[in-house]
This record gives sequence, C-alpha cells and structure tokens, in this order.
Amino acid sequence: MVFAFSMNKTLTFNSNHWCLKAAIMHFQSKLPDLELTIFAVMTQLAIKHGAINLSQGFPDFDTYPELIALVERYMRAGHNQYAPMQGVMPLRERIAEKVYDLYGTQYDPATEITVTTGATESVFAAISAVVLKDDEVIILEPAYDAYAPAVQLNGGIPVYLQLKFPDYNIDWNEFKNVFNSKTKLIILNYPHNPTGAVLTKEDIDHLSRIVENTRTLIVSDEAYEHIIFDGRQHESIARHPQLAQRCFVICSFGKTYHTTGWKIGYCLAPEPLSIELQKIHQYLTFASNTPIQLAYAEFMQNKDLYLGLPKFYQQKRDLFLDLLGKSRFRPLPCKGTYYQMLDYSQISDEPDVVFAKRLTVEKGVAAIPPSALYHQKDDHKVLRFCFAKKSETLESAAEKLCRI
Ligand code: GLN
Repeated sequence: MVFAFSMNKTLTFNSNHWCLKAAIMHFQSKLPDLELTIFAVMTQLAIKHGAINLSQGFPDFDTYPELIALVERYMRAGHNQYAPMQGVMPLRERIAEKVYDLYGTQYDPATEITVTTGATESVFAAISAVVLKDDEVIILEPAYDAYAPAVQLNGGIPVYLQLKFPDYNIDWNEFKNVFNSKTKLIILNYPHNPTGAVLTKEDIDHLSRIVENTRTLIVSDEAYEHIIFDGRQHESIARHPQLAQRCFVICSFGKTYHTTGWKIGYCLAPEPLSIELQKIHQYLTFASNTPIQLAYAEFMQNKDLYLGLPKFYQQKRDLFLDLLGKSRFRPLPCKGTYYQMLDYSQISDEPDVVFAKRLTVEKGVAAIPPSALYHQKDDHKVLRFCFAKKSETLESAAEKLCRI
C-alpha cells in the first residue's frame, strides 16, 4: 500500500512537473520576435547612467497648476467612481465642440466619441475592432511601435511601406503598389512620430483617390495634432469628410497638456465604427479616470493653451537647433511633434542602436535609434531627440552633443 502510494505520488509529481514545464516554458508565444519597447530600453539606460533623457517622449516640465487644482477639486467633490464607459458627457461635449471649431466636422458626443486610457488604448481598440485574420494593414515606417503587434495579435498582416529618407515623404506610387483589395486598414500617424513629417493637402488628395470606392478603413493617430510648426495647418483626417467617414481619428490629452502620465486620449469615429471600438474598450479598461476627465472638460475651454502649443514647441525646437549649430550633428526637417531627428553620419558609422547606447553611456545624452521602429531595422545613421524639455535641459544636452 505504502509502496503504491509513493509510486502514485511520484507519478503525479512527474506528470504535473512536465505539464507545468510545457505550460510555462514551451508554450507558443503570440509575439515571438517582439522585444521590450525601445522607449523603455533607452529610458532605463538613461536612468542607469545618469544621462540626460531625450529618448522617450515626455516633458520634463510640469503641467498647469490650475489643471492639477481642478483634478483635486473633482476628487474632493467625490467624483472617484467609474466614469461612463464612453467617457464623461461634459468631456465628450467639449471634444465635439473643439473638433468642430478646428476641423469643421460634427461628431455626436452621444455616439461618436470615446474617451480611452491614453491614445494607445484607442489605437489597440480600433485595430482590434476591425482587423480579421489575414486582413492586410498598411503601416508607414518608421512606425510607432504599438501598431504592428496589435495587428498581429488580431491575425492581421502588417504591410510595411518605408517613408522616403531623408524627408520621410510618402511615395504614393509605392503606396498604390502595396494597396489592394485585401487592405482592410491604413494606419496614419501625423504629425509623424518619430520623423516630424506632416501630411500635406496633396497627400490627402492622393489618399482620398486611393480609398475611394473601396472598403478600406483608416486609423489616424493624431496624438501630436497641436504640435505643428512654421505656420502649417494640421491636416487632420477630421477635416476631410470623405476620409473621416471611414476613419478612427485618435488624439491625446497627454501631449497637449504635458500630462503623458495621466493616460487619457480619445477616439472620434462614425457611429458604426464607434460601436465596434466600444465593444473592445469596455473590456480592455471599461472606463478611464473620472476626476481627470472632468478636469480636462473644464480646462480645455481655454482655447489659448492648445492654440498656443505650436509657438511654445517651435521655440523649443529652434532653441535646440540653435544650440546644436556648431555640432557635427545635422538636423533633418522637423515640421511637427516634439522630436528632432539628427544625422550623425559625420561622427560615426556605427549602427544607430550601438551609437545611441554609446551616446547614453559615454556622453550622457539618451536618444531613440529609429531602426527599432522598422521591421527590418533600417539604419540611416540618425537618432530621434525629444525637445519637450526645459531650456536648461536642452542647453546641458546640447553642450554635451557639441563636444562630440
Ligand atoms: N510616445 C512617446 C514616444 O514616442 C512615448 C512612448 C512610450 O513610452 N511608449 O517617445
């Protein structure tokens, strides 16, 4: 008996042991080739080596004290439970007004606007809402790294198209070559992270002609909608009714109010698309932070802040470029976003990842190597620097960069 019992126990232990091993060590990864996002990698390296962090994009100055006071006021007034799944109504109403004012398209706050936990949640929910197995999705590279994994998790096939170095324009002939009847979705991100390129009226015309009479949808990540320079106008897809009717337009409060850590964004989409997006949103996060939504609803009534953002960030871009005037880095055009691409080919022929790491560890300035944002790791000997920083930070960083 005793013998039989211990035999059983051994057998049980063994089979359980092997099952467990198979379950946790040999299961098939859904994203086998995916590494830790470069934004986390570079920030961790910057912290470890005490480098000035111009890699991950976030301001090193604080948000508006009045906005913080509003959040506190709403918290103290007891607005601390779940918001409605779609977002608090006053915020959806203010968003609708702002979008109508700026872009001339009327979105219904009751059915066509969804507040999400950052623009990234909107991106994931929009892609998940529409991409079926084997659907093709056009992604312009270099591409923000949240898009392709969302497509792949839904069984879709990313179809990559490279923006033309060094201006990072879209070659519309090449675009036509990759566009076909299986193209379910086109993902746009303008003003463009990481390159600082913007969409022009001609781009909009090309795109409109290509998608006309097709069933292709668009996700337009416009997180940097208010950060555009030299008097340019942001060509939001929401400005163009023919495109807006097939588009999820996605925006971010974090970029506009220097609150990237608060993670609130929103998605504008025609009702049938919004219904599908909300089916995903309700089970991803259900709803987003209540007091912050209420505070934004009140705070965004001051239009001067977002209308003043181009000037605010243009001064930072120009300061950074001016400080780098005598360096061996060569700036590429930066028409929008708070990122400046710098060509380092006069300094080194190392791959961008190697150079970025050495710059962080040895020279004390961290930047993003854009090859991490290409599926085939294209390397043009440029790095992306975030200039959403205090003047002192930009001065110290530039001083180090000029010494190289
Ligand atoms: N959007 C920011 C950037 O491009 C931050 C990205 C992130 O940390 N995931 O740097």
